[in-house]
Amino acid sequence: MPELPDLVHVEAGLRAAVVGKRITAARTGDPTVLRIMVAEPFPAVLVGRTLTGVERRGHFMRFALDNALVIVVNAMLVGRYRLIAPGPPAAPAKKAPPKKDPRALALALVFEDAPELHYLDDKRMGKVYVARAADEGTIPIYGQLGADVLAPAFTREAFGKLIARRRDQVRAFLMDKKALASIGNAYADEILFAAGLHPKTFCNKLAPADVDALHAAIGRVLADAIAEIRRRDEPIEVKVRDFLKVRGRDGKPCVVCGTTIRAVRVGDGDACFCPHCQRETRKLFVNWTRLNDGSG
Ligand SMILES: [Zn+2]
Repeated sequence: MPELPDLVHVEAGLRAAVVGKRITAARTGDPTVLRIMVAEPFPAVLVGRTLTGVERRGHFMRFALDNALVIVVNAMLVGRYRLIAPGPPAAPAKKAPPKKDPRALALALVFEDAPELHYLDDKRMGKVYVARAADEGTIPIYGQLGADVLAPAFTREAFGKLIARRRDQVRAFLMDKKALASIGNAYADEILFAAGLHPKTFCNKLAPADVDALHAAIGRVLADAIAEIRRRDEPIEVKVRDFLKVRGRDGKPCVVCGTTIRAVRVGDGDACFCPHCQRETRKLFVNWTRLNDGSG
């Protein structure tokens, strides 16, 4: 899915292109992706409205409209945004029949004086919600998002409180959107690599120094990725991932130590990690020995 650093770039691109613009038409290639939480039907509910803001919240994109409505998009797995610049007017002689939208086109917004905005989802697992702003808290997951990992309030202390209650594997915790908003598969791997933690480590086995490292890694990995994606400045539908150190690099040498990066099943996903830089039980054995012989 587009992950947080991708979406920071998308957010900036969308703001520059379509905020303040009036919607003249809206279409979908697959109405089952839409969740219209208001009485007025799609597309009439959107036509004639002005887009007043675009804001990323966790892994969701929130579009505010001038009539106190919001469009909230949860882009799952393969969802992507695209801006389509208006082309030259079609030659009047060749009147081709209007093309049918592909089912992957979950939402198209047509603006006056602005590129057309498409949200595409080949797997059609994402959702597009249209709701009154007053009701947006009832949107699933979105209404229960955890700590914003880019916010100043996401301190070491705040992170420590969140992780202290957890009994699950650290990778599952990182990806729990109700705890942290929001980390996906790719950046969970990158963060664990930066922190030197094996993806199967359990949260309650982490030493305070590990929690320090993990918290620092979240901030650093995401900030570096945001800066790199901004520097590359690709069109918003392009996912820039070639700078990642472990994700998608299984079978290749670790950039730090040269050990072959491996993929391992963790929970319901695959994690990529370096078996040398991210040892599975590097401290546990030592700690137990100390406890058992009473010297610790
Ligand atoms: Zn390594």
